[in-house]
This record gives sequence, C-alpha cells and structure tokens, in this order.
Amino acid sequence: MSFRLPFHQRLANALSYNEFRIHYQPVVDMQTSELIGMEALCRWPQRDQTFAPPDSFIPQAETSGFIIQLGEWVMRNAIEQTKKWVTEYKLPLRLAVNLSGRQFMHHKLLETVQDALRQSGLKAENLDFEITETVAMQNAEDSIGVMRQIKQIGIGLSLDDFGTGYSSLSYLKRFPLDILKIDKSFVQDIPADQNDLAIVSAITVMALALNLKVLAEGVETEAQADFLRECGVTYAQGYLFGRPMPAEDFEEILKSHPTEVPLRAKAH
Ligand code: C2E
Ligand code: CA
Ligand code: CA
Repeated sequence: MSFRLPFHQRLANALSYNEFRIHYQPVVDMQTSELIGMEALCRWPQRDQTFAPPDSFIPQAETSGFIIQLGEWVMRNAIEQTKKWVTEYKLPLRLAVNLSGRQFMHHKLLETVQDALRQSGLKAENLDFEITETVAMQNAEDSIGVMRQIKQIGIGLSLDDFGTGYSSLSYLKRFPLDILKIDKSFVQDIPADQNDLAIVSAITVMALALNLKVLAEGVETEAQADFLRECGVTYAQGYLFGRPMPAEDFEEILKSHPTEVPLRAKAH
C-alpha cells in the first residue's frame, strides 16, 4: 500500500532534511560586462534527479505560511555563501534575495535579516531584496513603510517583474527603490516585436529619469543585449550570461574573474 504525505508535510520534511538547494544566477553590468552579483533562486531536488521548479512549490508555501521558514533558510544560507565569496575573491558582489508577499510583510523580517547579516559578517550594502510590483502595490502605503525600514538598514531594493502587474506611477515615484527589473516577457521577443522595443525603451527612459537603475531579466541573445545596452539598461541577467547554477559552478566563474573589480561596477 502506498500513500503520499500532504504537500505541506513534504515541504516541511524537505527543509528539516536539508534538501533544498540554492542556485545562483549571474548579474552583469551592461556597459562593462562585469559581474556585479547574483540572484539566489531556490531549488528542490527530486528523487528522479530533476528539480521541482519554484513555481510548483513557492505558491503553496506562500499559501500555507511555510514560505517564512523556507525564505529564512534561503536568506541565511545565501548571505553566508556571499560573505565567503566576497571575502575570498575580494569582489564587491551583491546578492539578490526574492521576498514573497508574506515574507515582505512579516513582523520579524528585519530582525531575521539583521541577525543573518550579523552572524555572517556580510554588509547590508552587499544585499538586495526583490519584491514584485504586485506585492508592493497590494498595500502600497504599508509597503512604503517596510521599504523605508529595509533601506534604513542599508539593504537595496529591486522591483521585480516590472510591467506585469498593476502599477501606479505615483507610487513608483514614492517607493524608495534602487533597481527596476524589467520582466522577461518584454525581453523575449526583442528585437522582432516593435511593441516590446517601444515598451522596454520607454520603461528604461522613465526609470533612469526617476534615478533608478534598470535591470533586464531573461536576456538570452546577443541581439537582445545589444538593444538593451543601447537603451541604457544598467544591468542584465539571463541565459546569455549564465543560467542559475549551484554554488560550486558559480564559484568557477568567480575564480576566473579578475579579483579587482572597479568600484563603478557596484550596483549603487
Ligand atoms: P523571478 O524572481 O522572476 O526569477 C527569475 C526566473 O527567470 C527564474 O526562474 C530564472 O531561472 C528564470 N530565468 C533566468 N534567466 C532566464 C532566461 O534567460 N530565460 C528564461 N526563459 N528564464 C530565465 P525560477 O528559478 O524558475 O524561479 C521562478 C520564480 O520563483 C522566481 O521568479 C521567484 O518569483 C520565485 N522564487 C525562486 N526562488 C525564490 C525564493 O527563494 N523565495 C521566493 N519568495 N521566491 C522565489
Ligand atoms: Ca527575482
Ligand atoms: Ca523576475
């Protein structure tokens, strides 16, 4: 007789057996092509050697509240790993960690991240939080309060998946953001789709005018990178520069990278 544990129980077991993994995707400076940091992306290895995609478990973890524990695990581990890399390779790397809606509004978020920074020794300026436009807009006034507290610690803030949600330009002006991440759905059909070309260049002009850096995600081809560079996009991420990869593989990139990265390659 076979039976399957309820999904939330499987998630909890996976965390207690230390099954989750973090993959790191390089983020590069568009003008200099230098590596400036990486985004931490959660992975759940399965028995058949595949990874369950985050979209198949993050939403459930969010609904059940388990995302608080999982998110803390990701944050602490990625912060610790980044501290090791920053120290060993003497690079001003910036780590981007995704926050779900529940994590962003959780009363212990600041306490947890401050503790993780203290324990690891990583500086707040080496860390960015990513929240989606939809999460930021859900309760915009409260969001501004949390964002200000995050910024006060010295952590950077990116608005993820920009252009896919319901956005208000008046809030965009008031949110204390550093980086606006253009969603990959606008990047994938560049340069063929005239509308996407117009949208991406308009978003970039607007964001730069608001003193934000612009990061394009999902960059897969040289043609896309060329267009984005010409638009003035600040940073990019995508398969062209590197897929999300285990820490050991990311470290190979760091080893081959010149140790002294000019300060201008820092995100802000
Ligand atoms: P996201 O934050 O928008 O992450 C970017 C997604 O785009 C990742 O999918 C990444 O693997 C994928 N990607 C990167 N470059 C390319 C490219 O060139 N082409 C294409 N087609 N895709 C690319 P992934 O890893 O499956 O993650 C999906 C989503 O799950 C993330 O979207 C994020 O919202 C969520 N997620 C992942 N890890 C965490 C986590 O630790 N905490 C929270 N709260 N959410 C997470
Ligand atoms: Ca993200
Ligand atoms: Ca995104």
